[in-house]
Amino acid sequence: MYCKVENVKNVSDDIAIVWLKLPGNQKFSFLPGQYIDLLLEDGKRRSYSMANAPNDNNVIELHIKHNPGGLFTDPLFGFQNDGKVKVVEKKIFRLEGPLGTFYFRKNIKKKIIFLASGTGIGPIKAIVEGLLLDNAQYNIALFWGVRKPKDLYLTKTIENWSEQIQNFSYIPVVSEATIEDNWKGRTGFVHHALMEDYSSLEEYAVYACGSPLMVSAAFDDLTKNSQLGEKNFFSDAFTVATDAKK
Ligand SMILES: Cc1cc2nc3c(=O)[nH]c(=O)nc-3n(C[C@H](O)[C@H](O)[C@H](O)COP(=O)(O)OP(=O)(O)OC[C@H]3O[C@@H](n4cnc5c(N)ncnc54)[C@H](O)[C@@H]3O)c2cc1C
Repeated sequence: MYCKVENVKNVSDDIAIVWLKLPGNQKFSFLPGQYIDLLLEDGKRRSYSMANAPNDNNVIELHIKHNPGGLFTDPLFGFQNDGKVKVVEKKIFRLEGPLGTFYFRKNIKKKIIFLASGTGIGPIKAIVEGLLLDNAQYNIALFWGVRKPKDLYLTKTIENWSEQIQNFSYIPVVSEATIEDNWKGRTGFVHHALMEDYSSLEEYAVYACGSPLMVSAAFDDLTKNSQLGEKNFFSDAFTVATDAKK
């Protein structure tokens, strides 16, 4: 399927939101939480999670972090522009999808914990939007880990969720705050903050998304030390593409 870049917005110095318009005559159904592959030159591809729930406008939203030296994200952020993969308005890409098994399990009647690092918040935003569209009320805690307070680019959106979901708590966690940041909130690894707040996760399902290191450490620690059932851990790790430059 083809898509056209509708808009690009830099929400911080290294995070951009990209909106892609899909052809109006082709229905693109997906489950919130899933991802697409953008097909690039020479058979290369990059995966990005959809950060919105399906909508009538046939627009998908991607939250993309700059990976310095990266084939796809360098040009997006204005570096090393050979014009081949540069994401600009009206540029056409081919995409493949929807892909992946990171989506909300309605049949699992547990309280929910979302655990995101960086742009891993994107697919979690899609899932929460899906729950809101369904008018479903759940008990939800969201832990979002970033390096710096400036990386919390979705704070307003998340505060809106607090008003729409009765039992919703939001815990931003910053790992590399400096004195100049004047950060008064939680610090350290995001899954450690979760473990500090919940002595047992027996009654919970955890949806974790973002850096592969966070996802694998969270799986190990939560299932071994916090009584989280392995079958109640759902995740998507933003691994490096196999064709990435070394
Ligand atoms: C299922 C899935 C969903 C994803 N969803 C998103 C998403 O929603 N948002 C998002 O920002 N990214 C997401 N990613 C990551 C994304 O696909 C790319 O890997 C990332 O954007 C880097 O692409 P690039 O072309 O800029 O860098 P590449 O050209 O792939 O990499 C260039 C160099 O950087 C290294 N590198 C690449 N990524 C990293 C990294 N994270 N940390 C350290 N070194 C790295 C590579 O090993 C290589 O040496 C997802 C990945 C997967 C598998």
